[in-house]
Amino acid sequence: MRHRDAILVNTPDIEIWPGGLLRARGNRDARLLARARSVLRRKRDGTLLAADLAEGLQPLVPRLAREPGLDAALRALAHAPRRARRAGIDAVPTLPPTRLALCLDALGIDGEAYAGRTELALQSEPAWLALAGRDRYGRALWLRADAALGWRRLVDAAAGDGIVLEAVSGYRSHAYQAGIVERKLARGLEIAEILAVNAAPGWSEHHSGRAVDVSAPGEPAAEESFEATPAFAWLQAHAGGLGFTMSYPRDNPHGIVHEPWHWRYDGTARTD
Ligand SMILES: [Zn+2]
Repeated sequence: MRHRDAILVNTPDIEIWPGGLLRARGNRDARLLARARSVLRRKRDGTLLAADLAEGLQPLVPRLAREPGLDAALRALAHAPRRARRAGIDAVPTLPPTRLALCLDALGIDGEAYAGRTELALQSEPAWLALAGRDRYGRALWLRADAALGWRRLVDAAAGDGIVLEAVSGYRSHAYQAGIVERKLARGLEIAEILAVNAAPGWSEHHSGRAVDVSAPGEPAAEESFEATPAFAWLQAHAGGLGFTMSYPRDNPHGIVHEPWHWRYDGTARTD
């Protein structure tokens, strides 16, 4: 498969990755992954669950049959078009947030109160995502298909002006965000402290597949100092014309800290 056309098929609990993009921990798994057409990965913690080989599904965990959401993932594996792109990149369906209420309850987050306080919009996950390239750590960067094209255009345009843009983070699932919050709770932080820094699961723009955290070579990730870089100056001058908006400027109405690194693709920009 040409990686440029690779897609991530999304289901409520499990992601279906194309083969060749994930690394295994052990030798046995590495041999299976090397031959896998696709790989099932648990969204909550990234555990690799099974490899889809020409001869059938090979479990990578002991009790695969009991894995929550496996049926939905197997249906998606069987029926999702190999190239969802054919359906058109502007009409990507979203997943119903069926797990979100339970997940917020478990974390002790009152979703309605949070939404009212922050005036943030609930962000649905796309049913599939496109490979937008690699992030600065060499990991697959997944974005909604239109945003993936937008990101490539942005990176190319910047390169034409001698500016290197690096992605730090793109799409993130509700379950992954919940995992971040869960780990901080386990370290003893209060939920209010955590939500001052991390969006509540369901309300991060990264869920939509349209947000990218941007940095430049040698710059730390997600630091306000990014504002002083030539890369940021370039973004301020050109990103709007290429469909990108900085979501959280100073004194934004959502009470989110100033995030000069966080840009969202809307695709509605006009160069006029
Ligand atoms: Zn961000």
